[in-house]
Amino acid sequence: MEETKSGEDIVAQPTQNSDQAVRVVFGAARRISIAAEARRLGVTKALVLSTPQQSGAALEIAELLGSLAVGVFCKAEMHTPVHVTEDAMTHVAETQADCLIAIGGGSTTGLGKAIAFRTNLPQIVIPTTYAGSECTPILGQTENGVKTTLSDPSILPEVILYDSELVMTLPVPMTVTSALNAMAHAAEALYGTNRTGGTTAMAIQGLESFIEGLPKVLTTPSDLDAREATQRGAWACGTVLGQVGMALHHKLCHTLGGSFNLPHAETHAIVLPHAIAYNARAAARELQPICDLLGGDNAGTALHDFAKQMNAPTALRDLGLQESDLDRAADLATTKPYPNPRPVTRVDIRALLQAAWAGDAPIQ
Ligand code: NAD
Repeated sequence: MEETKSGEDIVAQPTQNSDQAVRVVFGAARRISIAAEARRLGVTKALVLSTPQQSGAALEIAELLGSLAVGVFCKAEMHTPVHVTEDAMTHVAETQADCLIAIGGGSTTGLGKAIAFRTNLPQIVIPTTYAGSECTPILGQTENGVKTTLSDPSILPEVILYDSELVMTLPVPMTVTSALNAMAHAAEALYGTNRTGGTTAMAIQGLESFIEGLPKVLTTPSDLDAREATQRGAWACGTVLGQVGMALHHKLCHTLGGSFNLPHAETHAIVLPHAIAYNARAAARELQPICDLLGGDNAGTALHDFAKQMNAPTALRDLGLQESDLDRAADLATTKPYPNPRPVTRVDIRALLQAAWAGDAPIQ
């Protein structure tokens, strides 16, 4: 992966041993070049996707595309419900779209990926959060309340256009939780069983971008250079998410999001210090880069302090989780656990969840 200056384009190999190349573009106002990006792909009938909340942004992209746009579908939802994808598929058929343009966070990207998986249409993603879904060939979708995840080369977007002006509108609380969501991918990539020297370097680069950029963004949300730094962090963190198997933290968040409907980024932000503290001794050497970047000798405690400085939420109870849900959450999170540096036991995970629910400091 190459380092680039703002506005330069790069071609990245997103997966280990992959010959698929993704075009990645950074820079303020780069969305203006969306028609040129579509032409570069050789497409002429783009369907623009967003959530209802971001329909204004989707309409702007359609306007910029002019005759290259054949429709706008603004019904993306969190966790990619299959009924929404099926609704969108009728628009794909009616418009005979030959390209998908997703503008939004992980929910909109998820809808584009779900359509691409069914149609093999090329995708341009314009991310407006730091979730990092645009960098992975992974699709999670929900049907009848059950979320399943699959991976396929057709799911990986062809072009990612990071326009720093678009994250400028991300409200400050969501900027913080989305950044911690991204940092969670990198933190777990440090000890993932199939990590490589390259993925570790990239994970550290992603963490560093957020640790340096996020305080600046909070002080001056309109600082476009700092916003671009955080987007570069999101790209690095999302890329390692696509390359390295995730562990306890992601299992906990998938459980809490999938079975208790907790919001994605906020849940990641709250759980991260607890999950990393759980693994801090068993993977002390692997997690040392976090201590190097943040100080201290326990990566979980260091992340807890950082999250508090950023005014991140700290208690799962504030997201609506009931204390009476914790037993079932512990049961679910310890059934078929992901590979993890420290053995996952029900009693220890129940204690971790109690601390995360109450907003206590992580158990060391
Ligand atoms: P989101 O996409 O659900 O966005 C949350 C809300 O914020 C939405 O209403 C959205 O319209 C709004 N929003 C987004 N950007 C905004 C901006 N710049 N300004 C104002 N409002 C904005 O949230 P998310 O955290 O980006 O994505 C969560 C989803 O992504 C989950 O379903 C998760 O499972 C998925 N995800 C998938 C992967 C993967 O690799 N498959 C990776 C990460 C996340």
